[in-house]
Amino acid sequence: MPSFWQLLTDVFFPPVCVECRQRISEGILCPACRRKLAAFRILQPRAYCCPDIESICLFYSYDAAIKKALHDVKFHGKKRLLAAMAEEMAILETPKRVCNIWNLPKNIVVVPIPTDRKRVEERGYDVPQGIFRSWSLKHGFVWYEALTRIRSTQPQYGLGRNERRKNVRGCFSTIKDISKRPILLVDDIFTSGATAEEAAHVLRKQGAGHVWVMAFAGGAEDK
Ligand SMILES: [Zn+2]
Repeated sequence: MPSFWQLLTDVFFPPVCVECRQRISEGILCPACRRKLAAFRILQPRAYCCPDIESICLFYSYDAAIKKALHDVKFHGKKRLLAAMAEEMAILETPKRVCNIWNLPKNIVVVPIPTDRKRVEERGYDVPQGIFRSWSLKHGFVWYEALTRIRSTQPQYGLGRNERRKNVRGCFSTIKDISKRPILLVDDIFTSGATAEEAAHVLRKQGAGHVWVMAFAGGAEDK
């Protein structure tokens, strides 16, 4: 249920498509821009040196308007845009389709890549959770916050591939029992794959079943 202030904001600053700025009623894109920008891709984990991951799926290219929107959410406090990204997940048909392509086991749990607690406190929200939690529950998946960060890391942005791997090594730990559980790891952005691979590695080491990865946006590293 939108709050009074939300309704008032919508009257004076109606939601617009992040690409063409046309007014929209839900999500972050108008239907035409969604068709143009939807860049559903399944990546081969081997190409990204991710031996602990079965398959990786990205819904948008981490580029142009999508990249700017994610930056606005992460660094400029645009909480409303995060809610619109959750709506976008509900509108997209590809996440459901890719679950079928992957033939995910029924007992799969959805594990978000945890955000540094300091950053969550600064922002007042968690981005992977904001995008994927309602989608997961709507599709009957168990939302399972099984990972935590046990040390701070530098932002991955601007680092090279090897630096990224070094930056995240040993930064996660499991806080829930994941033995033999198949896992769908979710994150807002996938670029070099270093963060997702480190998370998958920790989960597998602790006895998890297969691990698949979904990200809202992604692309070649260092973009
Ligand atoms: Zn548009």
